Amino acid sequence: MNKNSSNIMALAPNTSNKRETVCIFGTGDFGRALGHKMIQSGYPVVYGSRSTQISNLIPKDAEVLGHAEAAQKAAVIIIAIQRQHYNFLTKLAEVLHGKVLVDISNNVKLNQYPESNAEYLAQLLPGSKVVKGFNTVSAWALQSGTLDASRQVFICGDDVEAKQMVMNIVRGLGLTPVDKGSLLAAQEIENYPLQLFPMWKFPIFLSLGLGLFFFFYCLALDVIHTYIYENNNVSFFIAISIPNRVFPAMALTLFGLVYLPGIFAAIIQLYRGTKYRRFPDWLDKWMLCRKQLGLIALAFAALHAVFTLVTPLRTFSSWTTSTEIITQALNNQTEPLNHNKAWLNDSYLALGMLGFFVFVLLGITSLPSVSNSVNWREFRFIQSKLGYLALILCTAHTMIYGGNWFLNSQAYKWYLPDIYMLALVVPCAVLVVKFVLILPCVDKPLTQIRQGWERNPRYSE
Ligand code: NAP
Repeated sequence: MNKNSSNIMALAPNTSNKRETVCIFGTGDFGRALGHKMIQSGYPVVYGSRSTQISNLIPKDAEVLGHAEAAQKAAVIIIAIQRQHYNFLTKLAEVLHGKVLVDISNNVKLNQYPESNAEYLAQLLPGSKVVKGFNTVSAWALQSGTLDASRQVFICGDDVEAKQMVMNIVRGLGLTPVDKGSLLAAQEIENYPLQLFPMWKFPIFLSLGLGLFFFFYCLALDVIHTYIYENNNVSFFIAISIPNRVFPAMALTLFGLVYLPGIFAAIIQLYRGTKYRRFPDWLDKWMLCRKQLGLIALAFAALHAVFTLVTPLRTFSSWTTSTEIITQALNNQTEPLNHNKAWLNDSYLALGMLGFFVFVLLGITSLPSVSNSVNWREFRFIQSKLGYLALILCTAHTMIYGGNWFLNSQAYKWYLPDIYMLALVVPCAVLVVKFVLILPCVDKPLTQIRQGWERNPRYSE
């Protein structure tokens, strides 16, 4: 068969029901789980094992043979064995010659060995075609059937035909192969399962630090200050009042931090007069985790909404209301409705609800299933224009909450501003600079720079 025709065969969908036999070396957890899935998908499976005794754990309908005999029955051999045992494979070099070997192994540490396991296997067996794959799929997921079609299987290898054969098997199992290129990519693929939420680390640590700071700030001003200067113990504020002051402050500050790196990037580009120079590393990293920062901000906004809804159920609230009523009754006078206050209160609530609604919309559109269904322009419109709208609404909501209280000296316990004033710092800074950036005299050169224009071109014609 010539090379071209085999390529066409590999790329064409397998229309016949008959599947090629697949050999799996190793009857451990992963070998068994993968074998089970393959048999379910119609692939005849033959195991190569040190022991040819059939145990109850091995999928029925699978054959168990010695390694050499099993290898002879299939063109594709999945090596479901730990890397440290690969040495025994060199004895099988002859029978494995020309076969496709699928390295599915993982390590216990990032970059544990100088070369990837797949490259090591290729060095041990230069006559075989090594393909890396399946290592990001767990035996548990295969066995419990929690895999769905969106589950990706990263594949890499130097032999295009061998890679296509493995990708066809992946498709045959109802999974999605993702071609990551040559075997050089194996190290990166082997590191995937060892990563622990890499994009979430910075947002989570930042939120923790900020949350602790806001919490102790409120504790000092609301509880300790009241205790010292008014001899009033309001320590129960720790359960609902303080969290419900910390959550919105966190939500607004983190939301502002989602848009702040974009502002820095614009200023840097304007200053440098080019977009062809890399941003500093810290800014690059910050930009990459904006989605995570936004989702954490949304979670805090949702908590704020829930904590606010329970306010009427609190003993403190009913006590405050009844005390006010009794005071009015005792003084035999009814307080007239303060229209200004009513307006402020209703506007404050309306802005909060609208801001939260747009914020939730942003969160929904950041889900891959939704963002994949819109084009780049639509996505930018939602995340940038609607994002700024949500930021404006939430900032206005917080400003109205404070009203002109910031002008009152009593608002500064221990000469410190209230937490809502701190929460306004980042979003207000972002909105003010953004307003300057959209002025035509600034926006025009910035747009030109983003379209490739340079103030001092490095390569002049
Ligand atoms: P396991 O349960 O320990 O099974 C490994 C199998 O290797 C054994 O059952 C044995 O099969 C064979 N073996 C052990 N020592 C050997 C030796 N000295 N010489 C030849 N064969 C030997 O491990 P596993 O969980 O199935 O993992 C197998 C590979 O899959 C590993 O490289 C792992 O990193 C990778 N992986 C595992 C998972 C998972 O969820 N478990 C997920 C992705 C990738 P026989 O007794 O039949 O010879």
